[in-house]
Amino acid sequence: MVERRKGMLIVLSGPSGAGKGTLGEMLRAKDKKVVFSVSATTRKPRSGETDGVHYHFMTEERFEELVAQDAFVEYATVHGNRYGTLKSEVLERLERGQDVLLDIDTQGALQVMERMPDCVSVFILPQSFKELRARLTARNTEGQEEIDLRMRNARREVSEMNRYRYLIVNRTGHAAAAYRTLRQIVLSERQRSSRYFPEVEDDEK
Ligand code: 5GP
Repeated sequence: MVERRKGMLIVLSGPSGAGKGTLGEMLRAKDKKVVFSVSATTRKPRSGETDGVHYHFMTEERFEELVAQDAFVEYATVHGNRYGTLKSEVLERLERGQDVLLDIDTQGALQVMERMPDCVSVFILPQSFKELRARLTARNTEGQEEIDLRMRNARREVSEMNRYRYLIVNRTGHAAAAYRTLRQIVLSERQRSSRYFPEVEDDEK
């Protein structure tokens, strides 16, 4: 039988600092069928971030233009900046049978779940809020005010976790275990019969 599968959309969310970026990167690095969707954002690049690799960095005006052109699958304002998933990063790849990974916030994820209900939504939970604050502080990329804002948003995001199909607790020091769980979810979801095209090549004829 020839494998003719539709690509699936994997939506990864969770509070900033919960480790979803790392888990997503592990998945993408080890699974060649998974590709990452590079989001558009109006946030300024952090040191070490490259345009077109980590994000498509752009002005507020350009972002608005794209909204007007209906270029987004979803978009939202997160921590005061605008972020959006571009259709051009997602739709064609799904058609080609690739699995597309989105690292997006809960507002965006809920829009995607509504529009594409067969997406695989996964919420990454930290073991505690105290631990989350410690991780954000250790990362040293945000100031105190920004950390407080992210903690407030974290509480809001966690309150939506039951809207997701899967939940993974990413315990500090146990990222490998969280990754294994994520991988199992992806492998099982890939086998859903609904993801396969009905044609089975009849090579007996
Ligand atoms: P950061 O600025 O730390 O890279 O990301 C901040 C938050 O924005 C994260 O929770 C991340 O998941 C979310 N985010 C990144 N890209 C998108 C996107 O395209 N859409 C939405 N809704 N959220 C995004």
